[in-house]
Amino acid sequence: LLMIEMQDVWKEYRNGTKAINGISVKIDQGEFVYVVGPSGAGKSTFIKLMYREERPTRGHIFVNGFNIGRLKDRKVPLLRRNIGVVFQDFKLLPKLTAYENVAFALEVINTPRRVIRKRVMDVLDWVGLADKAHMLPSQLSGGEQQRVAIARAIANNPSVIIADEPTGNLDPDTSWGIMKLFQRINDRGTTIVMATHNKEIVNTMRKRVIAIERGVIVRDEPKGLYGYED
Ligand code: ADP
Ligand code: ADP
Repeated sequence: LLMIEMQDVWKEYRNGTKAINGISVKIDQGEFVYVVGPSGAGKSTFIKLMYREERPTRGHIFVNGFNIGRLKDRKVPLLRRNIGVVFQDFKLLPKLTAYENVAFALEVINTPRRVIRKRVMDVLDWVGLADKAHMLPSQLSGGEQQRVAIARAIANNPSVIIADEPTGNLDPDTSWGIMKLFQRINDRGTTIVMATHNKEIVNTMRKRVIAIERGVIVRDEPKGLYGYED
């Protein structure tokens, strides 16, 4: 089953930077995809297009059947119910506890309070943080903050998780813990698309690897390697 499709997609930013220069790609439900390439190659733009953070200048993008390039702004929340996003810098709300950060993601889509309570504790438990539910992000380690962000991303049971360098701020051991968590999410059938510079992890996991350079796909291999020196 097709989950994400780009058809001849181009993205030129308003200042004239040509970030994506004609990409066509298909990603099936349940795939785990690493997106690699040099800094400035277009990886972030490529994945921002998938969660409609950016719109394509040309071409079509389908996610779970939605034509998201055309999606009206007021329909974006509907799309985001189906996509969980995880960032390098976690993007937790600093004045909210771990529990409240996850609950907030469910409140904005009008989940009933009784459902929220159970669901938040389920996902925090699942990422191993049930005992830290009442802590603020500043009281948690980087790895723990990323676990909260992952709990938030899976809370409404999305079909796709998009992650932009999720281990970029973490030490190697912590990064491996986070990657195992993504593997467990993928084992449940959730599609994962992850931009990463983590050579060791990519080379060990042997997933599909899409390499981007100067805004085009230069390599797409089913059990690929990182392929760069950094
Ligand atoms: P990567 O994630 O591979 O480092 P990016 O997608 O962030 O690459 O960037 C691709 C190119 O687009 C770079 O030249 C970058 O400077 C440029 N770029 C990224 N975001 C913007 C923006 N909002 N406005 C203008 N140019 C941008
Ligand atoms: P298991 O985790 O062993 O597959 P369940 O299927 O009963 O067990 O799920 C238990 C919990 O796992 C869910 O309530 C949820 O908190 C969490 N979970 C893990 N991954 C996901 C995911 N991709 N989407 C939604 N919930 C998930």
